[in-house]
This record gives sequence, structure tokens and C-alpha cells, in this order.
Amino acid sequence: MYNITSKIAEEFISDSEIRDTMLYAQENSANRALVKEILHKARECKGLSHREAAVLLECNQPDLIEEMFELAREIKHKFYGNRIVMFAPLYLSNYCINGCVYCPYHGKNKTIRRKKLSQEEIRQEVIALQDMGHKRLALEAGEHPVHNPIEYILESIKTIYSIKHKNGAIRRVNVNIAATTVENYRRLRDAGIGTYILFQETYNKTNYEVLHPTGPKSDYAYHTEAMDRAMQGGIDDVGIGVLFGLETYRYDFIGLLMHAEHLEATYGVGPHTISVPRLCMADDIDTADFKNAVPDEVFYRIVAIIRIAVPYTGMIISTRESQQSRARLLELGISQISGGSRTSVGGYVNEETPEENSAQFDVADHRTLDEIVEWLLDLNHIPSFCTACYREGRTGDRFMSLIKNGQIANCCLPNALLTLKEYLKDYASPQVREKGEAMIKRLLQSVPNEKARATADKYLNAIDDGKRDFRF
Ligand code: SF4
Ligand code: SF4
Repeated sequence: MYNITSKIAEEFISDSEIRDTMLYAQENSANRALVKEILHKARECKGLSHREAAVLLECNQPDLIEEMFELAREIKHKFYGNRIVMFAPLYLSNYCINGCVYCPYHGKNKTIRRKKLSQEEIRQEVIALQDMGHKRLALEAGEHPVHNPIEYILESIKTIYSIKHKNGAIRRVNVNIAATTVENYRRLRDAGIGTYILFQETYNKTNYEVLHPTGPKSDYAYHTEAMDRAMQGGIDDVGIGVLFGLETYRYDFIGLLMHAEHLEATYGVGPHTISVPRLCMADDIDTADFKNAVPDEVFYRIVAIIRIAVPYTGMIISTRESQQSRARLLELGISQISGGSRTSVGGYVNEETPEENSAQFDVADHRTLDEIVEWLLDLNHIPSFCTACYREGRTGDRFMSLIKNGQIANCCLPNALLTLKEYLKDYASPQVREKGEAMIKRLLQSVPNEKARATADKYLNAIDDGKRDFRF
């Protein structure tokens, strides 16, 4: 039975509730009055229920779909302005004992090169990332009790935070590792992680068990209840996501929103981020084997409606998406993107040949970070390297109340300008520097609070004088 605050996976992600919702949405897909009413409610920016969001997703009337896109743009702008937070994945190890059939790291794949970074190799990767200009990383590792125990992850986090190369520093380490115990989540929190990210892959239990035939991840309940344990371990910024294409998008879209609702209802804090990866080609993985591929136009609607339904959450896309699709998705609600990414182990120091392949998936956007920064500037988005919130203790419900009442904007804009300035001074090419400086000059005037504007101006001058790491 559906119970939003239950701690049991099959109760807060109820299969029958998802199926009833799908039916309800199909029955109401042509109900213009209902769709209008839901859009009217969404304009209050307090979010939508999974049932309401499912009706929007099912609606196929072009004018109403256009209205949804327009509303998603407005909401994105209201909460996030035109700022886009930049990050990079760092793959520590691709040893994995799980059997996920869509991932080339699955334990039975004998063709992929297995690799685990030593602490010295991590140092080299981090220096390479710092030299590109990155300040925020997402750590990735397969699940392996011998190669990747929690001690290895904790030691790696410590190494990463300790490296200060030239003016570089990694100021926020988000962690994407397998579901674990409350005790291990507590240790990750004590190590100073930013967000704990874990993708559900699919919420459909039957399909989940087929896609995860072996290894600890095959336990649907243990995986689905991971965020509850993370919260119990004191991690209050968690990131959820599904791999669109594994299951029908309708099912996973509803499951994803139910998971967000569960976290908010149970812990008072919804997901800090929602990621929307789509299945793509990789070593030993052929997307033709999966029947649920999501076409672009549907994918854009999914992103727009998540933005409308969970207005406070950060939304992330990776370099799996092409430049063209990223441009569209940025407009519709995405607030974080990766740039200059390597999805192989050690890939920032040693670019791999195809024969040496250790990558998790094929990257569709191959541009350098500097090219992506320039592209964002040209599209009038502000590339932001901000990591201020968690360093200022603005996490969990504190963060959520600031974002929900819109006050976070007083921090985000000046922080975006300050961190962009650092990037321009230390890493940008001359033409990017010129474009970025022009944007900073223009947008400093839009910092609403006069005192904050004056302080930001003072900090910008100090960055010119060689000082670093100011924040609001
Ligand atoms: Fe291992 Fe994660 Fe890949 Fe599954 S998705 S095989 S757990 S690395
Ligand atoms: Fe994110 Fe906080 Fe920085 Fe805004 S101020 S960009 S919410 S870290």
C-alpha cells in the first residue's frame, strides 16, 4: 500500500500507485481544463504532486506543451537566474562486482581495462582538473569490497581536499558510490562531502531485478532505501536520478517524483539535485538492446516538467548529451552541467586510445571546459564555479528554506560572478576572458542588494590583486 512516509521501498515507491497514476494521466491527457488548472497551480512555484506532473507529461496539445516550456523557463529563471554551475566527474576505480547489464563496468565484462587510481594518481588527476579551472567534483567508483572499500573512498576525499595547485582548489566533493550503511554515510559526512548522489536507475522493481541480476545492487529495497539511510547518517544533501531508457519513461518519471516527495515528507528536505542521464552507447553495451529509448522531444518535456514539479531542486545533465540537446535543456531547467569531462579512470592525465578503454560511457560533448565556458557566455548563461553553500553550512533544510523563499538569489549571483572572475584570471583563454569580464561588468549592476553589490565589487577588485576564495 502506498505510504509516502514509510521507510519501506515498496511502500513509498508503490507500484500500484505508479500504475494508477499512469492510468489517471492517460484518461485526463485531453482534459484541457485540468491541464490549465495544474499549470495555474505550478505558477505559485510550490511544486506539483506526481499525479499532476504525470497529467502534464501525458498532455499532447502543442499550445499547452509550449505553455509548460515557457513556465519551466520562468521558474528556472526565478530560482536560478541564468547561472549554470560547473562540475567534473572524477572516476576513481572501475572495479565492480555488480552485474548491471547497461554498464560496461559490470563484473563479467572482460574486455574493459580495469583500473583503480592510487593516491598519487588521484593527486595528478586533481591537479589536471584544477588546472582546467574546476572547483567542484563528483567522485565515481564501482562497488568492490576489496578494491574500493569505504576507507579508500574516504582517503581519496582527504587527498582531493588537500591539494592546492597554484590558485587551484577543489572546494566541494560530491560522491556517487554504491548504496551503503548508515555508519558509512556518517563517515562520508564527517569527511566533508557535498552531495551524496545515487541513481535509482529504474523504480520498476521487476525490471530492476532483471537489469541487476547479480551483486549487492540486485537488492532493490536496499538500493531504494539508500537515501533514507544517508539522511539517518546525517547527510542532508542527497541527489537522486534515473537512467532514462531502462524502463518506460512514464514509470520512472512518476517514481522519481514519488521519491522526491517521500524525502520531503519524511525528512523535511527534498532532493538537493535530480540528475537526468539517458542511456547511451558504451563498451559491451548496445543501446539497440534496450527498447525504451527516450526521444529528444519527450526528454525535453520530462526535464521541463520536473523543473515545474520540483522547482527548488538543482538539475544536472552530463556530457552524455550533445551540445545541441544541452543548449535546449539549459533553457528548460538544468542548473548544473559537467564540462571537459573524462569518463575513464585516470582520463584527465592520460587520454586513452580506444583499445585502452576504461570509460563508463561515450561522451557526446567533447569540448574543453574553456570552450564550454565560452559557449555559455555566448548563450548569456553565467558559468559559475560556486561551492559556497555547503562551506557556509547552508545545507539540508537551511538551504531548502533559503531557496524556497528565493533569498538564495542574493548569494548565487555575486558568488557566480566572483568564481567566474577567478576562472577568467587563472584559466581562461584571452577571448573568453574578454567576454567574461564584459558579462561581470554588466551583471554586477543586477545584484539586487546595494550592500552586497558594493561588497562584490570590492571582492572582484581583490581577485584582480591576486586574492582568492571570497564568498557570500
Ligand atoms: Fe558497477 Fe555502478 Fe556500473 Fe553497476 S552502474 S556495474 S554498480 S559501476
Ligand atoms: Fe549553489 Fe549556493 Fe553557490 Fe547558489 S550560492 S550557486 S545555491 S552553492
